[in-house]
Formats: sequence, C-alpha cells, structure tokens
Amino acid sequence: MPRPIRATISRAALAHNLTVAKRHAGRAKVWAVTKANAYGHGIERAARAFEAADGFAVLDFAEAERLRHAGVKKPVLMLEGFFEPADIELLSRHALTPVIHSAEQVKMLAGARLAEGLDLYLKVNSGMNRLGFAEAELGAAYKALRAHPKVRRITFMTHFADADGASGVAAQLASFEALTRRFDVQARCFAKSAALIRFPEARADWVRPGIMLYGGSPFADLSAEELGLKPAMTLTSQIIGIQKLERGERIGYGFAYEATGPMTVAIVACGYADGYPRHAPTGTPVLVNGTRARLVGRVSMDMISVDVSDLRDARIGIPVTLWGEGLPADEVGAAAGTLSYELFTKLTARVPVVET
Ligand SMILES: *Cc1c(COP(=O)(O)O)cnc(C)c1O
Repeated sequence: MPRPIRATISRAALAHNLTVAKRHAGRAKVWAVTKANAYGHGIERAARAFEAADGFAVLDFAEAERLRHAGVKKPVLMLEGFFEPADIELLSRHALTPVIHSAEQVKMLAGARLAEGLDLYLKVNSGMNRLGFAEAELGAAYKALRAHPKVRRITFMTHFADADGASGVAAQLASFEALTRRFDVQARCFAKSAALIRFPEARADWVRPGIMLYGGSPFADLSAEELGLKPAMTLTSQIIGIQKLERGERIGYGFAYEATGPMTVAIVACGYADGYPRHAPTGTPVLVNGTRARLVGRVSMDMISVDVSDLRDARIGIPVTLWGEGLPADEVGAAAGTLSYELFTKLTARVPVVET
C-alpha cells in the first residue's frame, strides 16, 4: 500500500476557472499559463482541461514538447524565449512563439536559418526591471526583428510588478505607451491573473492568467471563493498515529511545542518531502475529518503533528486535508509565509496524483 497522502486534481475545476478567466478577458484572447508543470497540476492534464484556451504559455522547451506530444495544435508561447542558438531550431519544429527580451536573442535570431516564418513577442521593460528592453535598446531590437525575412507578426508585451498591490498598473501602462508610441503596434499582451481581474483597461489583445486557473487568488485581501474560483488541487492524507500528552510534554524535533495542558496530537502522513512547507508554524490550519485544527511543532520530512484535542473522532485512518477543497491553499500559504503558487509548484513527485 502507498502512504495515504495524495493530490486530487479536479479537471472540472480547472475548466471552470478558465471560464471565469475568459469572462474577465472579454474579447481578449487567453494564454493559459501552464509553466512549472501547470503549477504542479500536470501539463497534459491541464492541456485537456484548458481546451477552450487560445494558446498555452510555458518557458521550458521540454514542456513545450510535452504540449505538442499531447496533441496541442494551438499557439505555444515561450515566456523566456530561447536560451541558446540550438533552441531556435525547436521554435520552427514545434511552431513555438518566443518572447524576445534581450539583444542577445535578437543577435542569435539574425544568425539563424529559420525553416518557417516566426511569430514573436517583443518584451518591453515598463518598470518591473526583470526581463525586457528598456528605451535605449528597444528601437534597434524592433528594427532588426522587423527586417528579419522570417519574422511575421510581432506582439508587444509587458509584465506588471504590482497589479495585486498598492501601485496597480497605471504607471507601467503609461510607460509602455510612451516607449512604444513610435512603432506600428498591432497586438499587445499585458495581464496576468491579478491585472486581468482588477484592471479591465489592461486586457489589451491577449491575457496571460496562471494562478486563477488553478483556483488560487492573486490577491491577499480577496479569496478565491469571492472571485468565483474553485480549488483544482486538494492535498489529503490520513492520521497514522495518536499521542496523548500531559501538560509540559513536548512534541517533535527541537521539542518545539510544549503542551499547556492535557492534549491529543494526531500524527499525519505529510511532510516537507511531499511539498508541505517546512516553515509552516504552529497554528497553520489543517482540516481533520472536515473540522479545522491547527498544526503544532515542527514540520518533519514525512509527518506533521496536529492538535486534535477538541475532536472526538480523531483516530488512525481519519482523513485529513492539507489544502484544497474545504481549506483554501491561499490561507495555508499565508499562514506559512508563502503563496498558493509555491505550495502548488512544490508538490513533490512522490505524492500520487488522482484526477477526478
Ligand atoms: C507566470 C506568469 C504569468 C502568470 O501569472 P499569474 O500571477 O499566475 O496569473 C503571466 N505572465 C508571465 C510573464 C509569467 O511569468
């Protein structure tokens, strides 16, 4: 028998969340962002569930190939473009759309013999200062790409740093306009989940939602449920041990938690080697047989301890939910000082995945 831990992934929830994203997108087309193995949900599974997307966005060539092998015929956007000249042949072979964000990439393209015409994205640095051309290099890059005999459509792209925060997108939108005014801009692509939901003015022609498709909220102050999203991944396990403690007894590594009175502790088969955050502190919520309880003491590699003193039915074999249906991953992430993005993408290979 495998350990009782598993991740259950709901294809219906994935499809539903895409419908929500499409509603926000209006007439804009939707790239379903499926990088990082579809945020841990399985890229082939996501490709099936997101059939209604207009294209798929990844950044790893192995993932682009997996999409093509899975029968995806729609456009595939390479969010970081390509990394070395040898990659360029793959762009033609798999009909991929690269994001061009550096002069080095422009140079590599100029020296390459492309078998097919190439649509590409030109990334503008509108203030995030991660990837993209700043003013000094943008003109030369555009000119060189436009003059390339194999380059077809050029879509202008930028990425927002604080669409979920106090700054919003206004300054970056203005900067984008100023930087691109002198070009013949035929198509634009800006918004990830947060901007898609919060800033209709940033929809442009294509949008790039990720986290919302998996049922995570991009906002600290708005829950996924309030946004009409459904959890796609539910991580469950079971109680595999029970300890009865007296006041003053301590639990787990470092004896990090001390009982303040008589208590019952459930040992659950889930630890950081499964992807549960090791830094989740005492108090992090856990659902035991549908009732909220709290994690106590340190997270071990294979186990956590949960205070079940108030639960009468806590015994070996009782089901436990770590996040997902009934316990939002956003809430567990917040308690552990991280995000649902990280919980989803760090689920490890030893956790069996079940699709419903
Ligand atoms: C990951 C990513 C997205 C999706 O972001 P979410 O916040 O998950 O919606 C969009 N665009 C780029 C460039 C990304 O890297």
